[in-house]
Amino acid sequence: MIKLSGITPSGTAHLGNYLGAIRRWATRSEPEDLYFVSNMHAMTTKHSAEELRLLTSHQLAVLVAAGVPKEQLFVQSDLMREHMALAWILECTCTFGEARRMIQFKEKSQGSASVRLGLLTYPVLMAADILLHGTARVPVGEDQNQHVELARTLARRFNTDYGEVFVVPEAVLPEAGARVRSLSDPSRKMSKSISDDGGTVYVLDEPDVIRRKFRRAMTDSRNEVRYAPDEQPGVANLLDILAACQDSTPEHVIQGIGSYRDLKEAAAEAVVTTLSPVRERALELLEDKVELAQIRQEGADHARKRSEERLNQAIFLAGLV
Ligand code: AMP
Repeated sequence: MIKLSGITPSGTAHLGNYLGAIRRWATRSEPEDLYFVSNMHAMTTKHSAEELRLLTSHQLAVLVAAGVPKEQLFVQSDLMREHMALAWILECTCTFGEARRMIQFKEKSQGSASVRLGLLTYPVLMAADILLHGTARVPVGEDQNQHVELARTLARRFNTDYGEVFVVPEAVLPEAGARVRSLSDPSRKMSKSISDDGGTVYVLDEPDVIRRKFRRAMTDSRNEVRYAPDEQPGVANLLDILAACQDSTPEHVIQGIGSYRDLKEAAAEAVVTTLSPVRERALELLEDKVELAQIRQEGADHARKRSEERLNQAIFLAGLV
């Protein structure tokens, strides 16, 4: 049962990505699971080529440094020909109405005078990402469910109209990982796309930068260290982070913490300890371009080998050879 997860390099990986997803990918993946840097999805709105190249390398380096198995990891654009070939076949399987109905398209295109075609068709590319690799399970949040549903529809339609080739995938809820909120506004989740530098702790942040961000974290004026997410979301977020870093529970880590200052310090130190080895290894990889390029190449070779036959069959069944 192949499970496929992607991470879009639309920004730098942050603590939420690490505690909520990457850490689990590194420690709990099954040998057939696949992970990819979905860089082709980071260009549906105007982007900087230089920045995309850099963010893709950063993302890959962080994943490798975190311990995500290299042979199960690839960069999407390294298989651009494969993903695009299937995306075209699936575009010709998908109706305009189906693409236009996607809620993400409606939301993201709203109010924009010039919407790129890629914003309409990226769910079809996502279907190609999923179907190309024979994915059976796609761990996604609520907002991506409709896209997996589209991939199911396209897989079934192609299989019926042209011949059985695709596994019909299923959306599964991601295993509950830590939910990390912004340090500056705990009502929002920590995110790489919102320009919230002070509230977002990046995996590559220097220890002193991390400490400063935690010192400035928003709490409240009660001055009472309790775990009450609804009433004291800022304090609860710090306790959640501390607990996640120590593989413990908020109820356990709260013991012995008497003030907000102590809590901020404890959370900062736990994060520094957790992220430091990942940061150091990622920086090493970014320094040594040869090693990272080799990891990238090997990951792409593996992914290509595993998907080649399925793609060739789809090309054949579509009547293209
Ligand atoms: P994204 O940054 O939206 O591309 O998400 C990549 C992965 O990180 C997904 O599995 C998300 O569920 C996870 N993730 C993103 N932000 C957070 C957060 N603030 N807390 C926990 N997990 C997160």
